Amino acid sequence: MPVPAAALVAVAEPRRAAARGNGTAALYTGVPRVRVAVEEGGADETDLLAARVRLLEGFVARAELSDCTQLALQWLAEVLHLTQSICLIRPEAEQVLYVIGSYGIAGSGIASYTISLEDWNNPLVPAFIHRKAMFFPAPHSAADRRRRPSTPFEDLPFHAVPLGVSGFDEDAFGLLLVGDTRPLDADFHWFASVLGQRIDQILRQQALTEGDRRQGRERSLLYSIINAVTDPILLTDTEGRLLIANARALTLFTASEEESEGRRGAVRMNNMLLSSALSSKAIEETAATRRELLLVNPVDGSDLVFELLSTVTEDPRQGSGVVSILRNVTDLRRASEEIEDNYRKMRIAEVQARAESDRLNLIIDSVADPIVVTDAGGATSLMNEPSERLFTIPMYASEIEQRWVQTNDAHFSSFIAGMLVSADQRRVGEIGLVDPKTGEAMPVEAIAGKILSEHGELTAVVTILHDRREAIEKARLYEQLKQASDELERKIQAATADIAQQNELLRRQAIELEQASALKSQFLANMSHEFRTPLNAMLGYTSMLLQGVAGAVEPAVKRQLARIESNGRHLLTIINEILDISRIEAGRMPLQLSTFRVPDLVGEVKAELEPIILRSKLAITLDLPKDLKPITSDRQKVKQILLNLLTNALKFTHHGGVTIAARLAARDRRLSLSVTDTGIGIAPADQERVFEDFRQLDNSPTRAYGGTGLGLSICRRLAQMLDGEITVQSQVAKGSTFTLTLPTKGRK
Ligand code: ADP
Repeated sequence: MPVPAAALVAVAEPRRAAARGNGTAALYTGVPRVRVAVEEGGADETDLLAARVRLLEGFVARAELSDCTQLALQWLAEVLHLTQSICLIRPEAEQVLYVIGSYGIAGSGIASYTISLEDWNNPLVPAFIHRKAMFFPAPHSAADRRRRPSTPFEDLPFHAVPLGVSGFDEDAFGLLLVGDTRPLDADFHWFASVLGQRIDQILRQQALTEGDRRQGRERSLLYSIINAVTDPILLTDTEGRLLIANARALTLFTASEEESEGRRGAVRMNNMLLSSALSSKAIEETAATRRELLLVNPVDGSDLVFELLSTVTEDPRQGSGVVSILRNVTDLRRASEEIEDNYRKMRIAEVQARAESDRLNLIIDSVADPIVVTDAGGATSLMNEPSERLFTIPMYASEIEQRWVQTNDAHFSSFIAGMLVSADQRRVGEIGLVDPKTGEAMPVEAIAGKILSEHGELTAVVTILHDRREAIEKARLYEQLKQASDELERKIQAATADIAQQNELLRRQAIELEQASALKSQFLANMSHEFRTPLNAMLGYTSMLLQGVAGAVEPAVKRQLARIESNGRHLLTIINEILDISRIEAGRMPLQLSTFRVPDLVGEVKAELEPIILRSKLAITLDLPKDLKPITSDRQKVKQILLNLLTNALKFTHHGGVTIAARLAARDRRLSLSVTDTGIGIAPADQERVFEDFRQLDNSPTRAYGGTGLGLSICRRLAQMLDGEITVQSQVAKGSTFTLTLPTKGRK
């Protein structure tokens, strides 16, 4: 839009100017303010010179690009009367021209006006690129209008003048658009040249300070990067002097005067070690090399092992240097030692684990029952030999054998599947397997247990199978046995009942017998007594006749009388013996215990039998211990036994002698009295029979010895009453020994 000329005379109003670069809008203050009286006809030379000086002074006083531009455009309007102008600048590295100042053009759109340098259809672009001033007259036709660039001048004629540093073969950096039809004169060119120089100056200064700032920023960034690295990083010159070091390197290689002597010593030592490492490095080729460097930790004096990585750098300004990076491998070394140690331990553990597993396998194999270990997925991971026989198909197996194994496998798998889905830790079940050799049914008891890891995860299932055939067979046999035993028991019960009945019968018979025997004994006792009384009377009278009480008796009569007496005595003996037996059996022979001396008793017995002894002409020997203590027993009964034994010995002995001996036995608690003869002896078969009632070994009518056969039988009964016994040892034609053994302290 054209601006009225009158308005241009006015003092430049404060207005907004776009300042590219910092992005903020700066307020144009117009300092110093210039009020120029504009008169028709122009200023004279002096005025012009003064105006030029003023412009240059204004430039000196302003450092800001927009300030300088604004002053210049105002000067252009006031001094050279070019009242409409726009100044554009191309920032570095951009392909666009932006407005940095304008004069005499109204509208807010001016600030956003730009020229793209990539738009070659815009005629202003070649004008800028080739630094060539151009004039665009007002258009006369639509075609003219199309050829003109689009500018805030719209259809008004204007000049486009590139801004640059004259005399240098450099690119233009700005474009000045001036709305006017007049050709531009030398004053304008002077103006364009000083404005160009001033803008160039400001741009250069800006670029310079921007560059410095960027470099500073980059440097501090670099420092913070290398300081952030925990590995020491150093740059040394060819003499080994430290040029740059990061914080970690400084703690290793530098120490101030205030620090302890120990720390400074460590730092000196480290510098020595480093420079020797780097000097030896220098004789090697320049390629980066790695090696170990042992340093001292200045903080605590401990050893630090570093890996030294150094590279020679060539800097055109600084000369060559060595960049070294030290990597602390102390921990790495320790870690690698630990890893080695752990590896060793792991190997040992592995060997142990293998031994353990071998042992386990050995155990599993030595178990006669099949054992199968399955993993959490139900796949078999281990089985012993008996299991293999059940679940793996042997080589050369027939089709039917293969099928049996497959059946077993299927049954077992379904058992395991059931175990895996159940929550039970342990499960006992029966599986109907088949003997893979014979095909016979093989019921097995399966006991399965889950093995859990320490986190409670299922790791395996161990199943032990137990062939139940033997148990079933045993159970069957047991059942049979039980039946047989029940049958037997029934029979025994029946027989027992029978026996009980018979026992009862016998008991009754025994009672009856006992009663009968008692009656018999009673009868015998009574009868004997009845016999004895008249017999004694007869013997008494016979004795009196023999003694001649009734007058002298003829020798022939005397002999007869003697016979009567002898037979009578014999009869009395028999009756006495029968009476004894009867009394014993009827329990009518009481014990009468007394303490007596055995030698006295023996003497008595011997004395009583003195006539018979004399008649027999046998030698009687007594063998009695001198210190024999008195014994307690029924003296009469012992005497009766001894009398009987001695009588028999004398009766059945024809030559030799008879010995009566006494012996203490069983720690003095039993006494044995024996009568030994050298007589006819008793055959072994008869030795027990002689104790029976009325038993005589020679019972022929022509027998040579008298007697009733009751003597020994009475002796045995008497001995039993005394808690003793009578035994016999004998040899035919050599002799016999009858021994009575009885307790020394009476009955128990
Ligand atoms: P007896 O009154 O007949 O002697 P015993 O009971 O005293 O009855 O003896 C039974 C039998 O034992 C005697 O008839 C005799 O055959 C045999 N007998 C007993 N003592 C002796 C002995 N010392 N030597 C050989 N035989 C004897």
